[in-house]
Amino acid sequence: MRSARRALSSSFPVNAVSPSAKATRWRIAEGILGLPSSGSGKSLYRLSKWALGGGKMGVAEIEEKGFEETLKPEVVEKGRCFLCGTCVSFCPFEVLSMGARGPELVDTCLKCGNCYSVCPAYEFDEKAVEEFAFGRSRKPDEEFGVYRSIVLARSKDPEVLKVCQDGGVVSTLLRYLLGSGKTGLSVLSGVKKEQPWLPEPRIVLSGSEVLECAGSRYSYTTNMMFNMGTAALLGFLEGSRAAFVGLPCQVRAVRKVQMLPIEELGWAKAIGPVIGLFCTETFDYEGFMAFLKERVGLSPEEVVKMNIKKGRMYFYPREGEPKSVRVKELAEFVRDGCKTCTDFSAELADISVGSLGLEGWNVVIIRSELGEEVFKGAVEAGLLETRDISEEPGVMDILLRLVRMKRKRAPKEKENP
Ligand SMILES: Cc1cc2nc3c(=O)[nH]c(=O)nc-3n(C[C@H](O)[C@H](O)[C@H](O)COP(=O)(O)OP(=O)(O)OC[C@H]3O[C@@H](n4cnc5c(N)ncnc54)[C@H](O)[C@@H]3O)c2cc1C
Ligand code: SF4
Ligand code: SF4
Ligand code: SF4
Repeated sequence: MRSARRALSSSFPVNAVSPSAKATRWRIAEGILGLPSSGSGKSLYRLSKWALGGGKMGVAEIEEKGFEETLKPEVVEKGRCFLCGTCVSFCPFEVLSMGARGPELVDTCLKCGNCYSVCPAYEFDEKAVEEFAFGRSRKPDEEFGVYRSIVLARSKDPEVLKVCQDGGVVSTLLRYLLGSGKTGLSVLSGVKKEQPWLPEPRIVLSGSEVLECAGSRYSYTTNMMFNMGTAALLGFLEGSRAAFVGLPCQVRAVRKVQMLPIEELGWAKAIGPVIGLFCTETFDYEGFMAFLKERVGLSPEEVVKMNIKKGRMYFYPREGEPKSVRVKELAEFVRDGCKTCTDFSAELADISVGSLGLEGWNVVIIRSELGEEVFKGAVEAGLLETRDISEEPGVMDILLRLVRMKRKRAPKEKENP
């Protein structure tokens, strides 16, 4: 863990917490956890569990229902589970395990109520979350959620432009946050080295690590909230906070976690800004990779980029011309939870980013005061260029069409999908 601490100290804002206060926090944590002197998977696991535990006991005192009365019948059995893994990470008694359709009980549930308190697919009070995140709920004409402004933007950072998915706004914002010390670390989705295109949760501490995670993978990253536990605690120890990048369902989980009724570890302050990506759906990894080999004729190893434009998915091989298929051909690999999801534009993020088919540019929705401050900071630092949204006629219509399409596609709350 000391090695993690050394790595962190170069990127955290040193004046957020005095060095002596930081040293005390680390000593207490090391004492409680009995951490070994070098970072290891096991110590990080204990660290995460300890951090997540801060959210648990507060809820345990006030709830009576358990997993079997809530998530099992209402989310898992109805095919509404997004497989985000937040419930598993937040079960203090470790009686949940992730199965193919969602969480499963592996021991007796002690009915503490944590799992459903953090689940983005269960009793989601959108109005309350909006009040929490933006200080107000959406007006009737705000179809894609509360927002302050919407602009076109593109990175001016050549390193980002080489590897990004669209305009590189997401990676540039993260590099700006880390470089300026506004956040000490970021929780996001990276890619597994041994398994191309399989997303995995990452905690990144430096701008170069942000670049390793750039680009879009169209399969799902389970368990990002487990990393959030580690990140929040490391941030707490160093007096910093963790940015989060994720899909709309993951943003929803983050907001529920931030709103847990406990103050001890300060989840609300430990996380942020929250950057959301536009999302129509994600595909089952195994099926998608088999499709790539058999139907498209490319191995996952030789594909360097995938992108969706105007209803087609493009696969760019290391050498040779890109190949494409109609996105509709991938319908059988769309995950069940995605078919029930109503949020296209990450309506509860501080900043939401997509491309809506534009070449090399992003559409950016700035929703909160924090989001505005961060985006403005990156523009003023000369890292982003912007254009007025009206310079791309039709973009607002596309956004509204996709927002409405996703709501219409999902079964109503009480219906089975
Ligand atoms: C599954 C998926 C579906 C999407 N669907 C749409 C869509 O329908 N319409 C649209 O306009 N935009 C969509 N997007 C967003 C778009 O692909 C870009 O991510 C967005 O425009 C930001 O571009 P960028 O150049 O700023 O990204 P970059 O600077 O390249 O950064 C991309 C970020 O995305 C994160 N990321 C990559 N894959 C995943 C994943 N599977 N889960 C969580 N985070 C991930 C990375 O960690 C990285 O931080 C989707 C993205 C994903 C991952
Ligand atoms: S013990 Fe675990 S499964 Fe049971 S209610 Fe609590 S968090 Fe949920
Ligand atoms: S949506 Fe996430 S939190 Fe809810 S049951 Fe599924 S895995 Fe658990
Ligand atoms: S459609 Fe996207 S945001 Fe919705 S559940 Fe699927 S991956 Fe999550």
